[in-house]
Amino acid sequence: MEKHLGGAVVHIKLANQVSFLNRAALLGVLDGMPRDGQVLLDARETDYIDPDILDLLRDFAEVTAPARGIEVSRLGFDPAHRMPDLIRYVDHSSRELQDSFTPKDVLGLFRDGHERFRTGRQLTRDLGRQMRATAGKQHPLAVVLSCIDSRAPSELIFDLGLGDILNIRVAGNVISGEVLGSMEYACEVAGARLILVMGHTRCGAVTAAVDLAGSPQTVAEATGCEHLEPIIQIIQQSVGKPSGHAHASPSEKEAYVNGVARANVEHVTDMILSRSRTINKLHGSGRVAIVGAIYDVTTGNIEFLPHGDACAA
Ligand SMILES: [Zn+2]
Repeated sequence: MEKHLGGAVVHIKLANQVSFLNRAALLGVLDGMPRDGQVLLDARETDYIDPDILDLLRDFAEVTAPARGIEVSRLGFDPAHRMPDLIRYVDHSSRELQDSFTPKDVLGLFRDGHERFRTGRQLTRDLGRQMRATAGKQHPLAVVLSCIDSRAPSELIFDLGLGDILNIRVAGNVISGEVLGSMEYACEVAGARLILVMGHTRCGAVTAAVDLAGSPQTVAEATGCEHLEPIIQIIQQSVGKPSGHAHASPSEKEAYVNGVARANVEHVTDMILSRSRTINKLHGSGRVAIVGAIYDVTTGNIEFLPHGDACAA
């Protein structure tokens, strides 16, 4: 069972060789399909299908299923099978979905998507079709502020598709006028219902902020990067917040840096609400929720932080 944005889809993955031996099992599954449901017949890993079984599948798709209100999608059949690829379930965000989802529902989608990512059970998506379906207009459900880190791409971590979220990525997931402006656009104009501020473990920007705290050198002198200073400055407002010592053993230092990353997410979340009246208003009316999270690049786990919004609880 796959839980897509538009509802549940029963995903039937056919074997490499489908013979008469599979007939009884397949009939059992098709007969057990609930009325008005969605089913995906997936033959992408199939090299051979017995002609009788093919007749059975075609009969189900063309006669039995429509009579019971079941919509049948197909993927990976051979042209000779006369069952061309067809996806009928809704797997991208639309205006109707955006309107019907509460911020809490959207957070639920993130939790479910991350669980699929963590357990290797990603949804079956047709990105080409998603591209065409979302080309006219986007109706993103959330805006994610995250770090530029190559190990933390939101769409993969939360098993999302095209058109699902707006992404703002900046080292250390900090805010600036440009970031706030993008976030305001995401919520006020594009209709996002959730703001997720996602930091991560082993963050290079946070590590630099910890290392350079109290250093006589400027950020530019220490790193050779001319424009890094404002980013480090924001993160350094959270240095000293976690207990422990930054210069202890490597594992203690790593734990300390991760603690600063967490405090930085909480600090940035507070800054968004205190600096943007647009977002503060949407948040106050319950239209938009704001949630912090820490992604662990070593385990793939995500921790939603209790700080801040009630919907994170
Ligand atoms: Zn980072």
